[in-house]
Amino acid sequence: MDKYEFVIIGAGIIGLSVALEIRKKRPGSKILIIEKEESVGCHASGRNSGVLHAGFYYTADSLKAKFTRLGNEYLKAYCSKKNIRINHCGKLVVTKDEADLNSLNELFLRAEKNKVVFQEYSLSQAQKIEPRVLTYKKAGWSPNTSVVNPNEVLKSLVADVEASGISIKYNVQYKAFDGKSILTSSGPVQSDFYINTAGLYADKIAKDFGFSQNFTILPFKGLYLSCTSKNKKLNTNIYPVPNLNNPFLGVHHTITIDGSSKIGPTAIPAFWREHYDGLQRFNLSEFASITKEEMRLFFNSDPTFRTLAFEEIKKYSKKKLVREAALQASGVDLKDYQVWCKPGIRAQLLNVKTKKLEMDFKIEGDSKSLHVLNAVSPAFTCSQPFSEYICELIGQEVKI
Ligand SMILES: Cc1cc2nc3c(=O)[nH]c(=O)nc-3n(C[C@H](O)[C@H](O)[C@H](O)COP(=O)(O)OP(=O)(O)OC[C@H]3O[C@@H](n4cnc5c(N)ncnc54)[C@H](O)[C@@H]3O)c2cc1C
Repeated sequence: MDKYEFVIIGAGIIGLSVALEIRKKRPGSKILIIEKEESVGCHASGRNSGVLHAGFYYTADSLKAKFTRLGNEYLKAYCSKKNIRINHCGKLVVTKDEADLNSLNELFLRAEKNKVVFQEYSLSQAQKIEPRVLTYKKAGWSPNTSVVNPNEVLKSLVADVEASGISIKYNVQYKAFDGKSILTSSGPVQSDFYINTAGLYADKIAKDFGFSQNFTILPFKGLYLSCTSKNKKLNTNIYPVPNLNNPFLGVHHTITIDGSSKIGPTAIPAFWREHYDGLQRFNLSEFASITKEEMRLFFNSDPTFRTLAFEEIKKYSKKKLVREAALQASGVDLKDYQVWCKPGIRAQLLNVKTKKLEMDFKIEGDSKSLHVLNAVSPAFTCSQPFSEYICELIGQEVKI
């Protein structure tokens, strides 16, 4: 049986970054990453908006606040060092009414606490950045928000991982844990320590090790529509003020690395974990358990979830999605938004006891294993400092 000091399950941005961090701290260690797909980037890390967030959304006591500003700075420096394309286009956060203004003011306070630049702009100042922008009275301007192609970042990280002597085995799926070794689709593997960075399956794997007792992952689908008009380029990302009670940022205009734009992502409850398109990767037992959880939330406990589900499901309609994006910029016409882009699915953690969607990253572990349970947005941005933090927790009893 193959033996390692560290086995990492899942080669998303978190698994790759954690592996590199362990290599830095323990240069001689034998490290393996197993990945069930034939390449990296098949799930969230390769299917996101590619936005390097600035860090003004999150309350100061959160891990998200702790890591976003630093992660943004780190990835910018990394991209520049490795000649990876980056668009320093910034972001405008716009409002539509008085209630939004209150939430925007809360974001200014959070930005100040998190030491993040987020400036108050009038409509005319905002229009100097993007003439088509629409906002009620004022907007927020984030000059440090940038955009990358996430797959270019992943490709570079894979090269770093391989150059540092860490093995990545593709098409190898974690199946079970027997208390000492793990069973994979290509046989048993033994390690002194296991790190679970398996995204949409992190909760299931954690349960095999005795963790994630209060949690389950609910998948939320993010659909995007691409703007196909060459004459309607935007200068910056335009986001609405989000509902601060849920973890999603709302449909927005994202600039892509080639300067075009897309609208989305939705946050539509999905019915199985990899429910990207039609019946692809349909899984009956996931369908049964996820639908049960979603129905429970919908009918019993959580008005936030009920409103979210109602609103989001309508966004399968292009018309509805475009109508929402049209509140943020003029000249947004349905005819320019007919092409769906590659969707992504968020591995959103639900606390089954409190019946609430978890807002922050969650980590659990002990002397044998560590489980990264809620690596949702902005974990791509946070990946480097978040991984340093994860590595500091190796071997400890952790419930964060
Ligand atoms: C629609 C959308 C938009 C987003 N936009 C942004 C953004 O603009 N900016 C930002 O910072 N963040 C964004 N995010 C969040 C970001 O993409 C994620 O937080 C991040 O990619 C999580 O990385 P990960 O490594 O934990 O997960 P993943 O990328 O999902 O990686 C997990 C890996 O584990 C593998 N795996 C799963 N099960 C097993 C198994 N049993 N055996 C072996 N391997 C397994 C999977 O195949 C996968 O490759 C977005 C996410 C989504 C879905």
